[in-house]
Amino acid sequence: MTTTDHHDPHSGESRRGFDVAGRTVGDGGFTLIAGPCTVESREQTLAVADAVASDAEMLRGGAYKPRSSPYSFQGLGRDGLTILAEARERTGLPVVTELLDVRDIDDVAAVADVIQVGARNMQNYPLLTELGRTDRAVLLKRGLAATLDELLSAAEYILKEGNQRVILCERGIRSHETAYRFTLDLLAVPALRERTSLPVFVDPSHAPGRSDWVEPMSLAAAAAGADGIIVEVHDDPANALCDGPQALDAAAFPGYAERVRAVAEIAGRGAVVPV
Ligand code: PEP
Ligand code: MN
Repeated sequence: MTTTDHHDPHSGESRRGFDVAGRTVGDGGFTLIAGPCTVESREQTLAVADAVASDAEMLRGGAYKPRSSPYSFQGLGRDGLTILAEARERTGLPVVTELLDVRDIDDVAAVADVIQVGARNMQNYPLLTELGRTDRAVLLKRGLAATLDELLSAAEYILKEGNQRVILCERGIRSHETAYRFTLDLLAVPALRERTSLPVFVDPSHAPGRSDWVEPMSLAAAAAGADGIIVEVHDDPANALCDGPQALDAAAFPGYAERVRAVAEIAGRGAVVPV
């Protein structure tokens, strides 16, 4: 196995987290990020935001979407960001949203508390470098075929520029298996936590590709020691414009959150406390 010369910003200190809009990420806490795959409309986004507001620490939702087909809905762009800003104002939840193109960085940073780098952009080095120069936390998703070493090296591009608030996120990798969308590599959680003190999250939505497998993978991720989960939730999954089959129904979210937190607690992740 090759090793990257990853420099851990917290090496020599006990594992600690960082603050995102008044909420601690890492440091023994557990962070639940929930929301739609895509910001489709004001009504949809506010409905989901309201539904998750009491049980999640942050709201997710994509305004710029990396779609496999160029003919699929690409997101609302700036209008989507405006909707996310309203949802943030209304619920108080910090917002996690994806930056796809470095040209949109100022617009996205104006709204996002955490900027997501999608799996397809994990090795977009100019994008990572620019994010290293912002004051926004970054959620870096593992590339579809990236090793953990490559993920840590990608994180290094951000850390090197001075931005120390990076969250690593396992979201499933390509394997020979075709029975589901991706193979969720939960061993990445303890393996990454051994190598770095950066918080390690899991996205349990994109690998299963169907909603009934999302909760078992979430419980497993919490049991594996994840510092948080980012999960897709929709108020009307059957009519979602993107990733509907894997979306948890908003009405079921409070029960889901309670069960996941119970397992996270068993794994030693308590309530989120201010830094
Ligand atoms: C998403 O979060 O909706 C998404 C597209 O994620 P990924 O980059 O992991 O596919
Ligand atoms: Mn999605």
